[in-house]
Amino acid sequence: MPALASPDYEKNAWVSQSARFDEAAERLNLDEGIGKILRTPTREITVAIPVQLDDGRLEVFTGYRVQHSIARGPAKGGIRYAPDVTLDEVKALASWMTWKCAVVNIPFGGAKGGIICDPRYLSPAELERMTRRYTAEIIEFIGPERDVPAPDVNTDEQVMAWVMDTYSMHVRETTTAVVTGKPFSLGGSRGRREATGRGCMIVTTEACKKLGLNPVGARVVIQGFGNVGSMAALQMQQLGYQIIAISSMEGAVYNSRGLDIPALDDYRRRHNSIVGFPEAEPIDRDEALLLDCDILLPAATENQITHHNAARIKAKILCEGANGPTSADADEILDANGVFVIPDIMANAGGVTVSYFEWVQDRQGFFWNLDLIYTRLEEIMTNSFHDVVRYAEKHKVNNRIAAYMLAIDRVAFAIKLRGLYA
Ligand code: NAD
Repeated sequence: MPALASPDYEKNAWVSQSARFDEAAERLNLDEGIGKILRTPTREITVAIPVQLDDGRLEVFTGYRVQHSIARGPAKGGIRYAPDVTLDEVKALASWMTWKCAVVNIPFGGAKGGIICDPRYLSPAELERMTRRYTAEIIEFIGPERDVPAPDVNTDEQVMAWVMDTYSMHVRETTTAVVTGKPFSLGGSRGRREATGRGCMIVTTEACKKLGLNPVGARVVIQGFGNVGSMAALQMQQLGYQIIAISSMEGAVYNSRGLDIPALDDYRRRHNSIVGFPEAEPIDRDEALLLDCDILLPAATENQITHHNAARIKAKILCEGANGPTSADADEILDANGVFVIPDIMANAGGVTVSYFEWVQDRQGFFWNLDLIYTRLEEIMTNSFHDVVRYAEKHKVNNRIAAYMLAIDRVAFAIKLRGLYA
């Protein structure tokens, strides 16, 4: 693994992904050729997206779609809109999707997309034009059997509806299964919005059982109050967890007796921020990660826990709602301090699992009720959690490397069965 000394190493998600991949591949004694295939994304697409702004000016945005692997099924992964999107980040996120789908054993490969933009400064009409042009630029590479996008940071059901409509207009038939995370009235699934947060809750509860910790009253700190963070907070509170602090980009709020999550959610909707919530103390955003708590749930962005702060994390359980919140160097520190890590490619797989249910329902044209979605989600998340933990114990590795090993082994097996098309 690269040394701690290299200053930018921990900031690069692709380097972080590759470090874990290399360690897992070595422990698996992975065939060298298969290793070369899995280290390299299958396809990296960069597109220029010209958009007419509302004031008449023309702006050109850069967009990416990376398909890491299609060995086990169509590529699957979200699209994010953010000013700091890079190709390396999208490559890492695409690889994590491959490993995630393999960990929970659903028949997808991995992909991710992104556009370098700041959506706060784009009107809904500009966002729509940008989304439609991006979709048109990657249109021959996506489709229900090719690559199925979904929401990620700063994209939502509306953005998915525009992607679905643009694709459908081009192929001349309504194709709901081309994206997941759509509005329910356009072929979306019950339970998709809360799925990632719910999956985090399910695996955290399994971890509590394993560590002999009572979820009722267990103190939780959540970083990020977007889709994953807010849905995890709401559902965990309903189960009896005590959410003592939540941070967001603008700041953090703390209440040692537990925050009232529906009230905080309502405050955020009215003020566009959680800062100033009256039933809590304001605290420093980054210090929130270091609070005394039982469970820390990062649900914001990459590289939040690095060698700079890992030693000061006090949580007993780290449930990675975000993708790549922990650097490879931080892993060693967390291991040494006995933190029970539920790695991202397992912890946040609830989202892609219900996306899989959505894709299945769209293709069948037959929709399931919420009870069935929740029952099937719980079964997949619980079984996968125990698969990973058992694998870790058997091979004497940490949970993250176990999850990678399990996933790489499954994808490598598919590649071997398919053979090489030459
Ligand atoms: P989102 O855009 O809905 O929310 C992100 C939240 O993080 C916002 O509240 C923002 O204010 C906050 N944030 C950003 N930087 C922060 C910082 N430095 N400190 C504290 N808060 C900060 O995004 P999301 O969909 O909830 O995704 C969050 C993470 O979960 C991402 O890593 C994403 O890839 C991952 N993820 C999302 C899904 C999904 O279904 N949405 C599924 C799997 C993984």
